[in-house]
Order: sequence, then C-alpha cells, then structure tokens
Amino acid sequence: MNKRPSFNTANTYQPSSTQMQITNDMSICQADYPLDWYQEEFIPYAEEYQALPNRKLTTVLAWMTPYVQKAKNHFGDQLLLLAHYYMGGDIVRLIEQFGGQIGDSYQLALMAANHPEKSVIVESAVHFMAESIAILANNTQQVYITNPKSGCSMEILAKDFMVEPAFLDLNARYGAENVLPICYMNTSGRVKAMTGAQGGAVCTSSNVQKIVRWAQSKKKKILFIPDQHMGENVAYWLGINNLAYWPGGTAGAQYSLRNQDEKTLEKFDQSEMILFSSHCAVHTVYDATMCDYWHNKGYTTIVHPECRNEVIRTAQHAGSTAFIWDYVTHDRANTQRYAIATENHMVENLKQHCIKFGISVVNLAEAPSLSASKGTGCGCATMSRNDPPHLVALLDLLRQGKALSYNQVKAGDVVNEFTGRRSRLGKQDQDWVIHHAKQALANMINITENRLILDKM
Ligand code: SF4
Repeated sequence: MNKRPSFNTANTYQPSSTQMQITNDMSICQADYPLDWYQEEFIPYAEEYQALPNRKLTTVLAWMTPYVQKAKNHFGDQLLLLAHYYMGGDIVRLIEQFGGQIGDSYQLALMAANHPEKSVIVESAVHFMAESIAILANNTQQVYITNPKSGCSMEILAKDFMVEPAFLDLNARYGAENVLPICYMNTSGRVKAMTGAQGGAVCTSSNVQKIVRWAQSKKKKILFIPDQHMGENVAYWLGINNLAYWPGGTAGAQYSLRNQDEKTLEKFDQSEMILFSSHCAVHTVYDATMCDYWHNKGYTTIVHPECRNEVIRTAQHAGSTAFIWDYVTHDRANTQRYAIATENHMVENLKQHCIKFGISVVNLAEAPSLSASKGTGCGCATMSRNDPPHLVALLDLLRQGKALSYNQVKAGDVVNEFTGRRSRLGKQDQDWVIHHAKQALANMINITENRLILDKM
C-alpha cells in the first residue's frame, strides 16, 4: 500500500452561515411520511411530529428545540450538527441555532478533519456526503446520518459495480497507465477509492475546471464519473471536443467494449474524455428558454454545473451551491434580481434570506417554457427524507446511549435506499477504501491549492 497522504485542510475555506431569518408564516414544503417509513425506534417521535397542529416553521422548531438542547447539554462540545444547503428551512435554522454548520458537499466532507475534537457528528444530507466525512474522520469520531435511505440519485446510478466495467475495459484496451479517472464528489467511497488507486482525483462543482485541466496535462484518456452533464459542461468550457459515453445505471454494469461495433470503438479510441452517463434528476428539469425569459425581465441567471449544456450556454453564470449563495446574497451583479437553477429548498432558503436585503430571487423554472407551463423547480426528494423527526429521534436516542448502527456511517458502506440496510466491508477492504479515497481527495485538495502543479500542456 502507498504512503498515506497528509491532509492539510487549514487553508481550505469554511462554510458560510446562512443566518436564515425565521418568520411564522414560513411553511415546511414537504409532506409527512407514512409511519412505516421510519425505523422502529423513530416511530414515537414521528407520531409526536404528526400530532403538531401545523407545519409552520416556528411550531416545528418549538417541538424540536428541547430535544436538541438536551442532546447538546449531554454531549457538549463533542457534538457537531451538519446539514447541506438543500435541506429544508426548519433543519437549516435549527442547526444554525445550535452552532452547527451548513455547507455544500465539499465543505461537509472536510468537517471531521477540520474538527478533530468533535466525536459525535450528525449529518442531515445524502449518504455519500456522510460517507465522505467518515473517510476523513479519525478513529474517535463517529458519523451518523439521520436517514440512511437518503441517497443521491446521481450516485445511485453510479454504484461501484456499475462503474467497475468501465475501469476494467478501458484499462484493458488502453492500459491503466493511460486512463486517468476523475470522479465528482457525488460518488461513493468505493468509487472514490477506485479513482485514487489509479492516480485520479475527486472534483467538485467549484473546482471541476481546474481538476480536468490538471488531468488534460497528463495526456491520458480522462474517465469522468458520474455526471454526464457536468462532463459535457467542463468539456465545453475547456474546448474538449472528442467525447465518448459509457452508459450509467445497470446498463453501465452490463456494457462492454467487446460488444461494440467498429464505429463506437473508433469513437472511444479518438476520445479525450469518456463520460460515465449518470445525471441529477433535480438539475435536468431546466431548459434554455427559461434563461431567455428571465433575461428579458432583467434578472441575472445563475445555474448549477449539473444542468444540461444548453442551459449552461445560455445562462450568465454557472457555479457551485456556495458560489450561488455568495453571489446572490452580496448582489454581485448589482441587479437585485436573480433567477437560480438549482435544488428548490436551497432556492427557497435563499429567497427568504434575501427578502430583508430587497433582493428578489426566483427559481429559473418559475418561467413558462416551451415544454411546460409555469413551474416551481424541483426539490431533492431523497435528501428531504432527513425530516425533523429523524433528526430529533437520532439525537434523543444517542443521548440515551442507544447504539444506532442503522444510522452509523463507515467508509465503503453500501446502502439499499429502499430498506436503509447497509452492507459493510471487512476491516482490510475498509482500510483500502479509506486509503485510496483519501488519495483521490488529497489529489483534489493539492490541485485546488496549487500543490500539484500542472504538467506542461
Ligand atoms: S440534488 Fe441531485 S445531485 Fe444533489 S444530492 Fe440531490 S439527487 Fe444528488
């Protein structure tokens, strides 16, 4: 096994607090789940939640606060509460109220490493994000997800067994030394480890151009996993024209170069970048006509790099969740009007936050498009499975000393998103995943911070 990389995260940026304002007329835009959707020991908490008179933000927070306060009193400074920007306003507000952190997937991944004193880390976000935290955690830090059924649909279509045939076939045809994998943060620890073991790097939506430029400088074929659209967008930004496609999902697991015709093989042979073709259902609802509509109304358009290429080409700006939050809250375009193409809880939280600054925020999908009537945008339904009863129950049961193995996340875990049950690797394989996934993450950090220099192109 290679030498373990040292993680110097001191220079990486810290998440900004959303400091969301709360008003009693804000409602929770999420339906209650049936009781049998909760793990058994969480059901009493879900029953209490469902008996609340309404879903107003202040009502929900008044119910959650005593539970969280008791957990906070019990664990003291050892407890770290985390949530992604895409969580609903109630969870975001509560976590801010108790000194927790809101971040995007990159910011969340560094939380255990940046806070080695926190031994109980509770995350409200999707599973690969919790796993990324666990990969960088030390032995004394325990990482929990409030609902393990909260999977990312992009990651679900790029499981290790779906991606592995691409590694095997491309390595066999071109030689492993000529294929450089780059995987997006939205992948499991196993896929990150496969990437790191072959010298590749993780990327995020904010550093993807820098990471792919580094990969280009290596003069190898780039295998980009798992987002086809982000791959097409970075190819557009960097002028990469020769692309080939490996299908995503179970089709990816069954695809083989041996079964392809000459024309397809020629395409692979000539390609500079091969895109593993998963996608995000939330970010692909947008089309270019929506951008035109808001431009005509004087709005500045900002879209996430997981959107389709026609949207990226038409919008004025593209960037990560943290970029969008920063750009809009500081009114960096000086237009005071922004149309945003990203996950709708994030847009709603931003919308509420910006009212006091006189900045108008709409979801890009709130425009009549050629294909659909006026829409509202799309929330990340799987992330929303981390609802208030899940957070309350997890914290209260941990405080009581209950072992919640169903919710505890370790590197290399694979979760069945229907049942929430996880399969865990043996110690040796788990160590392999941690070691090589850390390599891929360390490569990303070193490239981003200019510690891995681009070879001459
Ligand atoms: S918004 Fe899309 S990419 Fe992001 S976590 Fe949800 S399903 Fe995954």
